[in-house]
Amino acid sequence: QAKTSYSTRHVLFDPKIHEILLARLQMETELRRAIEQDAFEVYYQPIVCLQAGIISGFEALVRWNHPTWGRVSPVEFIPVAEEARLISLIDRWVLQAACHQLRKWQQDFPHLDYLTMSVNISGQQLMQLGLLERLDGVLQETGISGNQLKLEITESVIMENTASETVLLNQLRTLGIQLSIDDFGTGYSSLGRLHQLPIDTLKIDRSFVNRMETDSEGYEIVRAILTLAHSLEMDAIAEGIETSQQLVQLRELGCNYGQGYFFSPPMNSTEAAALLAANRRW
Ligand code: C2E
Ligand code: MG
Ligand code: MG
Ligand code: MG
Repeated sequence: QAKTSYSTRHVLFDPKIHEILLARLQMETELRRAIEQDAFEVYYQPIVCLQAGIISGFEALVRWNHPTWGRVSPVEFIPVAEEARLISLIDRWVLQAACHQLRKWQQDFPHLDYLTMSVNISGQQLMQLGLLERLDGVLQETGISGNQLKLEITESVIMENTASETVLLNQLRTLGIQLSIDDFGTGYSSLGRLHQLPIDTLKIDRSFVNRMETDSEGYEIVRAILTLAHSLEMDAIAEGIETSQQLVQLRELGCNYGQGYFFSPPMNSTEAAALLAANRRW
């Protein structure tokens, strides 16, 4: 029985930690295999324009169905992939698949030429050399235009970045690619930085949207973020809308876009296409 101790020797022999490390290593091995075998799938969750009540685009979300473990949540495997420096391989694969999918939908639904695709990108991929060329390559290859692609980056990544990354973010603009800050409100943002960086959209973290109906503090936080976004001339997307009351409140507050189970969960490409064909309005 390992005793609680501040000495690292005891910590290293703690069987629990050993188990955790082993599980992590195992997952890393399985992730490498999955990358080799293209074993991921992309799911798509609609982003709804709250004014018009129609789907304005999708967020691409990676899915991993392991042969024996079953569906593994990205919340579990993305951190492992980041630590093992595998995330940029996954992100690249998702980017390519999502852009091809958007191109296909543009062809199948020519009247929906305004649809956008949002792709999550980790800090590691942002710092990779040649990202700009690769993005340009994907745009060329798939034939979608830069302003139909949005990259989602978390607050911490965008705030910690250096001068050279700021240059990179500005270069994305030259391709027309838009930038969103994901999970906004959960990290530290310097308002000065926020103003300097070429950001188009703030995605209000779902923890605030979740609380706004029942808790006035949650409501005030959402309102404050919306005021901030609009005074910086950015769009806002409310994440995690689950009830019609949240939708009513967000519309009242002038939130531009929304995403959440109330509209639709993330779906595979066939289901997403069916939703587009159905011309749903909210
Ligand atoms: P995120 O980018 O903030 O994505 C939104 C997450 O909220 C998704 O979880 C989505 O399924 C979930 N969600 C959407 N609407 C609702 C709702 O109404 N209620 C609740 N409770 N949840 C909702 P998911 O797909 O499990 O992804 C989790 C996180 O993993 C993402 O958060 C993102 O940070 C990361 N991730 C997913 N795909 C990728 C990827 O391809 N690359 C990278 N780097 N990260 C990814
Ligand atoms: Mg996201
Ligand atoms: Mg988010
Ligand atoms: Mg999130």
